This record gives sequence, C-alpha cells and structure tokens, in this order.
Amino acid sequence: MKAITRFAPSPTGYIHIGNVRSAIYPYLIARQTGGKMILRIEDTDRERFVEGATDLIEDTLKWLGLDWDEGPIVGGPHGPYFQSERKDIYETWAKKLIAAGRAYADPTPKEQIDAYRAECNAKKIPFLYRNFRPENPPEWQPGIPLRFKAEPKPYTWHDEVMGDMHAGPETEDDIIILKKDGYPTYNFAHIVDDAEMGVTHVMRGVEYLSSVPNYLALYEALHLERPRLVSLPHILAPNGNKKLGKRDGAKSVTEYREDGILAEAMLNYLACLGWNDGTENEIYSKADLIKHFSLDRIQTSGARYDETKLLWLNGQWIRKIFTEQGKEALFERAKGFWPDSAASFDDDYKMQVLSIIYDRLKTLSDLKEMTDYFFKDPTVDVDALVNNKFLKKMSEAEIESLLKKTIVSLSNLGTWNADSLQEALNSLLEETNKKPAELFSLIRLAVSFAPFSPALNLTLETLGRDTTIARLNSVARAI
Ligand code: GLU
Repeated sequence: MKAITRFAPSPTGYIHIGNVRSAIYPYLIARQTGGKMILRIEDTDRERFVEGATDLIEDTLKWLGLDWDEGPIVGGPHGPYFQSERKDIYETWAKKLIAAGRAYADPTPKEQIDAYRAECNAKKIPFLYRNFRPENPPEWQPGIPLRFKAEPKPYTWHDEVMGDMHAGPETEDDIIILKKDGYPTYNFAHIVDDAEMGVTHVMRGVEYLSSVPNYLALYEALHLERPRLVSLPHILAPNGNKKLGKRDGAKSVTEYREDGILAEAMLNYLACLGWNDGTENEIYSKADLIKHFSLDRIQTSGARYDETKLLWLNGQWIRKIFTEQGKEALFERAKGFWPDSAASFDDDYKMQVLSIIYDRLKTLSDLKEMTDYFFKDPTVDVDALVNNKFLKKMSEAEIESLLKKTIVSLSNLGTWNADSLQEALNSLLEETNKKPAELFSLIRLAVSFAPFSPALNLTLETLGRDTTIARLNSVARAI
C-alpha cells in the first residue's frame, strides 16, 4: 500500500527536536512504500502564529534531507497547503454537517460557558458542553462559533503503535469546529485536510490520542473512511517524566547544525529514539532507515532524550563520512567551523589537519578548540609544562636538556614525514632512557600547549620542521 503521510506543524516558533520526529516517521513510511509525503502548515491559531516560523520549518526539513512531494514551495494538486488559505474548504465541509443536523451555531458568551464549567467543577462531575446545548441556536453565519453535535457512543479503533483502543461515550463532546474568527479549529481542519489530501496514515504526537473518539465521530458524520492512526510517544526530558520541551533546553534542530552536529547523525539519532529494528545496529543512514523502519517497532512508552548519545553518534558519522566519502567530503562539511586563526591557511593544509584530527571530533565545532595550534603559535606556559603529571618529577634542567636533544635530533632528520619522525622519536626514547609518556608529553605540550593532539609523529609532520623546531626552541628558552 502506498502510504500518503503528512507533517503538519503549527508555525508557532522553531521546531525543536521534541517535535521533528513527527516529520521523520511519516517521511520514512512514505518513501518506503513509494507513496507521498505532504507538508501542511497548520496556521489557523492566529494568536500563536510566529512570523518566519514556516521558513524555519522548511529549512529544518531540508537540512535533515526530508523532502516533501506536496506542500509549500513545491505545490501540488491539493493546495493551498497553508490552512489559513483554505477557509472556504472548511466552510463547505462545515455546511455538510449543518445540513445533516450535526452542527449548530453557538453564540453562548465565554462567561456563560465558564459558569457551566464552574458548576460542574463544584459538583465534581465532568464538564461536557453537550449537557448545556443552547435550546434554540440561531442560523449559522460567519462570526458565530460552530459546534459539532455529538451523538455519544462507545468506539473501538486500532492505533498502529498503541494497539487496540476503546473509549466510552463520556469522551465525546460538542467540540467547536469553526471559531468566532472564522478559522477552523485543529480538531476539524485536520480531518477535512487529511480527507481532501488523501492521507492514509495520520502520524502525530500521543497528546492527540484522547481526542480520537471525537475525530472518529467526525469521520462518521462526514462519511469519511478512517485513516490509519499512529500515536507517537513523547520524547522525554533528560530528567523526570515529562515531555521534552523548550524549557528543558530542547534546542531548535538547526541550532544543532550550528553546533557542528551532522544532519545524518541527527536523523539517525531521532529516528532511533523510541524505535529499533530488533538488531543491535545503531548506525542508520537515511536509506537504511527507509529500508528497515516499521511502525510496529515504535516503542509505546516515551524515549528519553540523551545528548551524550547524540554526540557519540555524531562522532561515528564524522568518521563514516571521512572513510566512506573521503576527506574532501568531510572538509566540505567542516567549512565555517575552523578557528579564526585558520583563515589565512590554504585548503590543503586544513585538509591535512582534518585528516589527522577527525577521529577525535565529537562535533565539527570541536575544530575551533582542537586545532588552533596548527595555525597559530601557542602561548608558552612554563607552569603548565613543569606541573604536567608526567613531567612533574623532572627538574627544569632535565626538561631543558630533553628539549635540546629533541631539537638536535629533529633538525638533523633527513626526510620530514610521519615514518621518519616516528623512527627519530623512538631513537630519542632509547637515547634519553625516558618513558614514551614522559618524552612525548613534553614534546606534545611544547608544540601545542593543548590537552590532546593527534599522534605525535602526525602532529609534527603536519606542523612542519620549521614550526616544530621554532616552538621547541621558544620553550627551551623560556624554561
Ligand atoms: N498542528 C499540529 C501540531 O503542531 C499537528 C498535529 C497533527 O500532526 O495532526 O501539533
């Protein structure tokens, strides 16, 4: 079956990682079945509308590689894809309900409705508006809210994630379908749009599950076939049992891009948050996900957001891109992440630095901190050197003498490359009778003053003879 799925965000701000997963799963199902993915912008809540939010949504989807077949930018046969431009369509469908006696105009003022609610609360009974239906509603006209007229009864349905569901009549009410401002409510608009757009799988957050009986009643009243319903469990905050929200530091997806997370890693991470294919595999490309994804392996309980895992996956993807697509491919992605000091260096040199450091990166933005000394002489810090845990036991004179021996040996080295450097370093170990941790820490610190560096011979090879000797000399002089 070719699945027609949709992502239907409301443009109320940036899309954070807690809600973008409701775009990933529909996308995977659409691509897996050769169906269609629709992007629909649910902008009927004019009070929460945020200018520019739609651009952010589109940008996020594009970055993650989630293209859509119908929707803004690409168009399609079921447009417009902004709900605010579909008012006539909702009105036509609403009129069908009026004609069938299943909707009524409701001019009851808000204060009165609040009083009904307070009355129920006082009596400790559930507030159901259908118990307060106005007796003689006027004829509907724009400007008056329109309500669905419930005919409460039990419902059963199947949710592709949650399983077989049952709800009693107490869950159905006279919900508003058109608001006073003429815009439809989410409850009504999505039913109409999903039907008009031929959506086969309604995939959305589990928060809508409790409203499903009302939706089933609407499908029936409008003589619509039920689509498949798929409730996606929440992504939980790192602490506690609540849904991950902006307040828990859920950043926008594109902020992660600025922080040096790769789109592949983000997609991989989010897709596997609450889903697995039953194997131990953890690395999935988009193509792998399309191949292996299945609704029946989505977990029913919420999955906890874990940034450490995201960083780990990102490191895996950095290595994967380097080894499978080549250093040029990773270099392309790394543009914009180099320290300022790298600006005057050519691409070949930066590519060489990247080639020796990539397997230590968790994010591309680590390049800033981790590579500065390849482009700029570090500040000599004698204290850091003499207090280093491997060098503490040595006297300053001994350190100075070791540095001098290193300078002599490296100055006389014939060819300057990783192998010859390794040989020279090994001979120095023998000659000085030092442990690798001692001698190599000293040289590493003296040329970089950084806590980590790639293998010493590779670091020196990249820095080149002149820079290496000059830096060793400045430290020897400063001691
Ligand atoms: N506009 C709704 C939201 O952003 C969409 C829910 C749905 O996918 O139907 O939560």
